[in-house]
Order: sequence, then C-alpha cells, then structure tokens
Amino acid sequence: MGMLDLIEVDGYEQVAHWRDDEAGIEALCAIHSTERGPAIGGARWQPYDDRDAALSDVLRLSEAMTLKSAAAQLPFGGGKAVVIGDPMAKSEAQLRSVARFVDQFEGRYLTTTDVGTTTDEIDLLAQWTPYVVGTSAGSGDTSALTAVTVLAGIAATLAALDGDPSAAGRTIVVQGVGKVGSKVARALADEGATLFLADIRAIAAAALAAELGAQTVSVDESIVAPCDLLSPNALGGVFGESTIPALQARAICGGANNQLVRDPDDAALLDAAGILYAPDYVVNAGGVISVAQDVVGWSFDEALAHAECVGATVQEIFDISARSGITTAQAARQFARSRIPTAAS
Ligand code: NAD
Repeated sequence: MGMLDLIEVDGYEQVAHWRDDEAGIEALCAIHSTERGPAIGGARWQPYDDRDAALSDVLRLSEAMTLKSAAAQLPFGGGKAVVIGDPMAKSEAQLRSVARFVDQFEGRYLTTTDVGTTTDEIDLLAQWTPYVVGTSAGSGDTSALTAVTVLAGIAATLAALDGDPSAAGRTIVVQGVGKVGSKVARALADEGATLFLADIRAIAAAALAAELGAQTVSVDESIVAPCDLLSPNALGGVFGESTIPALQARAICGGANNQLVRDPDDAALLDAAGILYAPDYVVNAGGVISVAQDVVGWSFDEALAHAECVGATVQEIFDISARSGITTAQAARQFARSRIPTAAS
C-alpha cells in the first residue's frame, strides 16, 4: 500500500517520506516551491548510505530545480523525488509504488527521468499516474535541448573571457561523453575546437575521440589539464577544496548538476583563482525547457528558441557578478530569486 509521512522542513512547501514494505521501497519527495507553477524535477534512483543522505540530496536538488526554472523564466516550481535503492535492480512493484507516491501530490509535483531512471521506466510510470512529463510519447529525451543550453552557455563564457564566442581554435576538455557530453563534443568539434574527452567509460571516450579527431585524457587528467574551458557533463561534486587549486582551466561551463562540492564557498574559491564559472543550473536548463513541451504545449521550435536564450542569461549573470562584485554563483541565485515572488524581497 505505502505509508506517507510528512517531514517539516523550513523553506520547503512539502517534504514527504514514503515506505512500502510490500513493494520493498523507500523514497522521499521534496516540493520546494510551486510559486511559479507545478514543482517539476526528476526521480533519482540511487543506493544512498542512509535516509539522511537521501533527505539532504532531495532538499538540495529540489531547491536547485526552483532556481533553475526561475532562471530559465519557466512557469514551473521546483521539486524532486529520490528512491533509495539499486537502480539496476528495480521491480515492477517498486515502479508502481513510486507512481502511487507521485499520485499523493495530486499534480503539485510532476516527475520525469533523472540519474538512475530511464525514459522506458518513466513511460511505465505514466501508465499508472498522470503526473509524469518527458515520456517517449511526449517530449522524450531531454538531452538534445540540454546540449543546446550548454553550448549557448559555452559561447557566452568564451565571449566573457576575451570577446569571442567561437570555439574555433580553443582548447576544450569535455568530461563525460554520455547523452549530453557527446552532443556537446560533436558540436564543438564541428566548430573547430581542440578537444580532449574523458569518461569513466574509457572505451566510449576513445570511440568518440576517434570519430571527432579529438584526444582522450583520464578523468583525473581532465580536471588538471590546461585549457580555455572545462565542460563537466558527468556527475556533480567536481569542484571543491581538493580540486580547485589544481585546475588549469580559464573557465568552467557544463551540463552536470551540482558541480560545486560546497556552494557558495567553492564558487568563491574559483573566483579567487580567476576561473570564470558559469553556474550549472543556469547552463543545463535545457532539460526542463524540453519538458515544457508537455506541460505548456510548446512546439519543439518554441522550446529550442527558449533554450537558445540561455546564452543571454549566462551573459547577464556574468554582468551582475562584475557589477556587484559577487561570485557568478551568487549572481545566478540573485537573478533566479528575483523571479520568485516571495523570495525576491
Ligand atoms: P549520461 O548518464 O548519459 O552520461 C553521463 C556520462 O558520464 C556517462 O558516459 C558516464 O560514463 C560518465 N561518467 C560517470 N561518472 C563519471 C566520472 N566520475 N568521471 C567521468 N565521467 C563519468 O547522463 P547525461 O544525461 O548525459 O547527463 C550528464 C549530466 O548532466 C548529469 O549530471 C545530469 O544530471 C546532467 N543533466 C542532464 C540533463 C539531460 O537532459 N540529460 C539535464 C540537466 C542536467
């Protein structure tokens, strides 16, 4: 059946814990804000160490979704669900239980794919709950528009370095060559960048490098390689006290979520090191822009046009940062919060 318990958390509209012993599942959902519209955010499926680790992740991720949708000027709030479990060992009973959990919010939270969940599974969920977006019958794979916003962010970041948005002749390291990173790498190669590719799936990086005439580096080397721009498109937590002093990139702009280990402290470290950081949730808004096709009925071309505007937003955030003497991460937060009625003051 499933048991729902509410958890009071300051600053969040609703946080709920779900336990279904029959299906063998434990999950959490946080609705950070519905001020701009329904709280949209994927369902992450991960073997967290314990419930506290899952709770802190869902809180952090749902707030980031509020900021992401606000910065992208979408009529959505922010939410997220996390399932504590092995993503490779899901049962149909567990997926049905997740659908029942999502149903409890009666449309205030809309779910989609995230780390550990696939479009096929989201399609299954959609058979059991209407509160699903990004299905294959709808907007489908979000990575195409995410690559568009990452590339728009990269052009704005390169322009902020020295006035030229072009990747031609630039040295760029792409970390992670999955759905987003491979599309970003292909477009940068077409533009004439000198590319270095890294992935824990070394074979995938080598195959793409061979196709694009790029070189490969190990994941560790990708962090310290001298380059104009480092584009993280794998997992989060890349930039922290242990990695920032070793960085030799002039700028960072990529699609991975939660790139900073500690935001805002690590943004200040990057700033002090003279490394220009394009805030991740602004740059990777293409995913949530893509699902706007399902929620507000945009055509693909309308969503694409919206995605291309992310370059101007990144530029504006750099301008706010320079004008106000604050980090780009602080500027992004200020920009996003100014678009959320009760957070603006
Ligand atoms: P993906 O799973 O298709 O690709 C991730 C790639 O990173 C894989 O090739 C994987 O082997 C590699 N990888 C994993 N750990 C790594 C590590 N430690 N070092 C180097 N490579 C590593 O995922 P994706 O859809 O391309 O998403 C990439 C990132 O972008 C994720 O952080 C995701 O949360 C974020 N993001 C994706 C979308 C989207 O629309 N797909 C939207 C917004 C944000």
